[in-house]
Amino acid sequence: MTALEYTTPIQFLKGVGPKRATALQRLGVRTVGDLLYHVPHRYLDATTVTPLARARVGEDVTCVGRVESTGVLPTRRGLRVFHAVLKDDSGRLECAWPGQPFLERQIKVGQLLLVTGPVRYYHGRQLAPREFIVLAGEGEDAPERGLVLPIYPATDGLTHRQIRTLIHQHLTELLGVVADPHPPALRAALQLPPLREALALVHQPGSPEDAERGRRRLAFDELFDQQLVQARARHLAKRARRGIRFELKRALTTQLKGTLPFELTADQRHAVRDITADMTAPLRMHRLLMGDVGTGKTVVALFAMLLAVENDYQAAIMAPTELLAEQHAATLTRLLAPLAIRPELLVGRLSAPEKAAAKQHIASGSARLVVGTHALIQESVVFQRLGLAVVDEQHRFGVEQRAALVEKGDAPDVLLLTATPIPRSLALTLYGDLDVTQIRERPPGRGSVKTALRGEAARAKIYQFIRSECAAGRQAYVIYPVIDESEKADLRAATTMAAELKKVFAEFKVGLVHGRLKPEERDKTMRAFRDNAVQILVATSVIEVGIDVANASVMLIEHAERFGLAQLHQLRGRVGRGTAASHCILLSDAREAAPRLQAFCDTTDGFAIAELDLKERGMGELAGARQSGGVPLRYANLETDLPLLEEARAAAARIIEADPALAAPEHAPYRARIVAKYERGFELFRVG
Ligand code: ADP
Ligand code: MG
Repeated sequence: MTALEYTTPIQFLKGVGPKRATALQRLGVRTVGDLLYHVPHRYLDATTVTPLARARVGEDVTCVGRVESTGVLPTRRGLRVFHAVLKDDSGRLECAWPGQPFLERQIKVGQLLLVTGPVRYYHGRQLAPREFIVLAGEGEDAPERGLVLPIYPATDGLTHRQIRTLIHQHLTELLGVVADPHPPALRAALQLPPLREALALVHQPGSPEDAERGRRRLAFDELFDQQLVQARARHLAKRARRGIRFELKRALTTQLKGTLPFELTADQRHAVRDITADMTAPLRMHRLLMGDVGTGKTVVALFAMLLAVENDYQAAIMAPTELLAEQHAATLTRLLAPLAIRPELLVGRLSAPEKAAAKQHIASGSARLVVGTHALIQESVVFQRLGLAVVDEQHRFGVEQRAALVEKGDAPDVLLLTATPIPRSLALTLYGDLDVTQIRERPPGRGSVKTALRGEAARAKIYQFIRSECAAGRQAYVIYPVIDESEKADLRAATTMAAELKKVFAEFKVGLVHGRLKPEERDKTMRAFRDNAVQILVATSVIEVGIDVANASVMLIEHAERFGLAQLHQLRGRVGRGTAASHCILLSDAREAAPRLQAFCDTTDGFAIAELDLKERGMGELAGARQSGGVPLRYANLETDLPLLEEARAAAARIIEADPALAAPEHAPYRARIVAKYERGFELFRVG
């Protein structure tokens, strides 16, 4: 028999027939190496066991005892139930496995058995094991190790117990297929066990601490691989990224400072400084500007655009919707009036002659600052000399779309804007090839947003409040959770709600927008709301309420418990944009959600909320990660492994600096797969 290798197909393993191979493939296990890396997703810690006599009805317990007797009994309805009575120093307890008579062949009198599950009452106390493991045979003592029971991700036709047996039987052989890619010095510095030891610890830990020690090593490898890909990309980009070296002429940028109707916040000034440093350097800028809605990213982008324009380049900003583009055009027109620069708007809605004129201005270079939607990336749009590409709400565009804008110029600088704040750990994993600037501070003088959690009982009062706000000339959003457009029942509920509100607020106009509407219809209603022809806008969460209606002062969110915190925060950002005091009301009677919703009411810091959100849902679920196709981590936990991530980042950077060739995947075949995966994920963030 030839030795197993990482890439040996799983069928070649003894005990794996075609049927099992198919089941394993469903778990993503195709090769022997995949099986080795198919690690437990949790552990049953049997180091703290309940004496049999003290297992109480209604509790979930883990017990250890000798099997005193066994038997299979039929129930009245013909189900065959396997029974085993366990005994320890404290007493006895019966265990029952309905429908599993075959256990008779596995569980024998005299064995030392570990069981875990709920205790119920059935002619006496009875434990219904979810899990069991034979710790020792008849006459054997309890093992010193192995009291932590690994539970594996399982699938139809393959139980976690079968997977455990398969892996444990072959563990030595399996471990033979990996070699440690990290030098002992690095391992020692980070107190990481060698790779084989780590995998053995993960599969067969003697204690919870063992399992964690092993996991930490796998997490490091995972983060390292990912950071290596990013370090390599940064390294290549440094050479490939020779770009325009803008000069700080202090012409238009200085003029703008003088004519702005407000003072920049300190964070805005920092952002402008970062961007100016990037743009005046010979490398192409590749920066992500991250800040909550309302923190004033547009004016920061404007400084960047003017720096390009005063160097005789064109600058373009692309927004995801026509309304947003129009809003930008209006803002920029206002701010640029004193500078005698008129932004050119290019959106799909323009008439054919208008479009032709805009394109002509862009091609001739007479349009120096261009604002638009996807319309900007059509083939027929040709820039005379694009020096800076800005993408607003960048996560709402695909990679190709961002790249298409960038390709309209000859290596232009790139500035991405996002209102989805994410914790540093996530930023490092998702955007590791980008430079990131955060804006946390909000401009002063804006109305604050008061957030409150209310129950159904308060509905009449809330309506009263909305009525008084609208009577005073203001407007309100009512958001309904339709998480997915295909959820018909949800949509029906939202539609019914809108009809109901039309009756309740007969004296006002109520509009409804949801994802099933045609874009034109949706736009029409949104415009009407912007122009205050509609006072109450009912919207589903499929719609990102992406416009800036300064007059809206109330945001009512129905079934708030069904939203993630980050999503709630985005919604709340739609109000408080004017000077009036604004209110965000979370309507929810879900008791279990109350603490998190209350925590949300108590803070307005988007970054703090992003951290909470990360804690709550894990990184894979975070809106940012999902939307941008980030690769989920299997072993690392971004909430707790940030120090490890920083170490991995530093180690990867050192390796690339020492010898870029070392990062080539062929140096570690078993890693190639992972690296390839990250490269695919990473593609999504490449912008030029
Ligand atoms: P966002 O970061 O959500 O894109 P915007 O750029 O749309 O935010 O800015 C929100 C509002 O705040 C705009 O009306 C803008 O003119 C205003 N604004 C921006 N910076 C300041 C500032 N430093 N002081 C006062 N108002 C500001
Ligand atoms: Mg914005």
